Amino acid sequence: SWRYALKNYVTSPETVNDDTVIYFDDKVSIIRDSFPKSECHLLILPRTMQLSRSHPTKVIDAKFKNEFESYVNSAIDHIFRHFQEKFRIKKSDDDKDPCWDDILKDKNKFVRNFVQVGIHSVPSMANLHIHVISKDFHSVRLKNKKHYNSFNTGFFISWDDLPLNGKKLGTDKEIETTYLKEHDLLCCYCQRNFSNKFSLLKKHLELEFNSHFELK
Ligand code: 5GP
Ligand code: ZN
Repeated sequence: SWRYALKNYVTSPETVNDDTVIYFDDKVSIIRDSFPKSECHLLILPRTMQLSRSHPTKVIDAKFKNEFESYVNSAIDHIFRHFQEKFRIKKSDDDKDPCWDDILKDKNKFVRNFVQVGIHSVPSMANLHIHVISKDFHSVRLKNKKHYNSFNTGFFISWDDLPLNGKKLGTDKEIETTYLKEHDLLCCYCQRNFSNKFSLLKKHLELEFNSHFELK
């Protein structure tokens, strides 16, 4: 079934012939998401079958985080380098928000403001994976409200907020209804509320991205 579409990257990354796999060793595969919801969207897949079969909210504890922290950092580095190589920050007088100053020169600032690491509370793919994604949401593959809200509401659980320590999440159905269906669309750059109007948000995200970034 499509739920197991990531399985090959876990069992045999060396056989994948396109450029999807950017790194693998005995412990993980780091791959490009084939339907990236942002300019850079990577997945880290633990290669131990027992971990791969587990639910992320149940298995990601302090020990897990310690074991995979360095891979998260490698994925973040990859994203930072990608942006550094491809883009420049636009300088404009009407945009006084200092959050963009030097963001492509200062890695800590880039990571703090522009990289999101974590999991979906209700994953659609069976093999455990950690999302490492740039926070632009500027992608042709971002096609509907669910796609956007799965990264921009409580549906997304940050690496830093794991483990949940007994915090109750509700049933899968409740989580999906609350965050993916009912939650308003809020611009991740300026917090403007687009209610249910995905196509308006989509146009706005294009403007936001182009107001901050230009190709080198
Ligand atoms: P989930 O919602 O389960 O946390 O995310 C699964 C991710 O896997 C999605 O972002 C989706 O775009 C990605 N994906 C689905 N099928 C494939 C595939 O065959 N190859 C790759 N590289 N990514 C995939
Ligand atoms: Zn905005």
